[in-house]
Amino acid sequence: MENSGILYVISTPIGNLADMTSRAINILNNVDIIACEDTRSSRSLLNHLDIKTKCISYHEHSDYKETELILETLRSGASIALISDAGTPLICDPGFKLVRTVRNLGINVIPVPGACAVTAALSVSGLSTDSFLFKGFLPRKKLDRIKTLKDFCDYPFTLIFYESPHRVLKSLKDIELTFGSKRRIFMAREMTKLFETYILGSVEDLIDIVERDTNNQKGEIVLVVEGCEKKSKMLGDASTKILTLLLEEISSSKASAIAAKITGANKKILYQEAIRIKRDK
Ligand code: SAM
Repeated sequence: MENSGILYVISTPIGNLADMTSRAINILNNVDIIACEDTRSSRSLLNHLDIKTKCISYHEHSDYKETELILETLRSGASIALISDAGTPLICDPGFKLVRTVRNLGINVIPVPGACAVTAALSVSGLSTDSFLFKGFLPRKKLDRIKTLKDFCDYPFTLIFYESPHRVLKSLKDIELTFGSKRRIFMAREMTKLFETYILGSVEDLIDIVERDTNNQKGEIVLVVEGCEKKSKMLGDASTKILTLLLEEISSSKASAIAAKITGANKKILYQEAIRIKRDK
């Protein structure tokens, strides 16, 4: 949309305030309005940075009126920055509906990247980073949690979960129940803060450590779980054999496309398997 303003989606620190980028500070100073998940919690960051821009609230339950105000502001040519309480907005934080609407209207949406707990934890986990799946928070109720974990226990790539300190032990025990006690898992706790803690081990080791030192049941937590080592259950031995042979000669995408034609197996699953085979070589 011509002459409209820009919606900036700005990452803020996940603990250490020095992780705020200078570009983010500059844009927050220069936009017309900052839409905050919670104006009170963003105020302390903005005060710390001496940013005086007007703030409005935009959260998960924002209604039509609040969204319309933002849209009207953008249409009038003014720019808005969207921030959440911590990290990257929309990643387990509000903003998706707003960004979708703004983009569908043809108004510019521009990211100002920075801290995000998913990538921070993954980047130091020592677990494979080629492909990964971020599942957000596991369900609160045990039965739902176990069902979700069962759905992913054969997933061949790294899995990432956000976890609440009150549920971390229960979730670890459910991961043990569904994934087995030997699966490798990494816990990143209080990243970039005073008591930051990083532990890599088997699920049983981690349960033991978290049970013995209850400090590990405090603060903000990300769990990074190694992908399943077994070949995908959805592929037969013949498909895997053909894929393995093809991978000696050609790229993963070509090999999975040809193997799909030969075997009739799903191309996407074959591609995931190709990545796993290459990774484990
Ligand atoms: N938008 C944020 C981001 O970019 O990571 C995430 C918001 S989500 C509501 C909050 C969750 O993120 C926490 O419960 C925790 O699982 C994870 N998290 C945020 N900051 C963290 C930190 N410093 N250390 C570990 N986990 C963190």
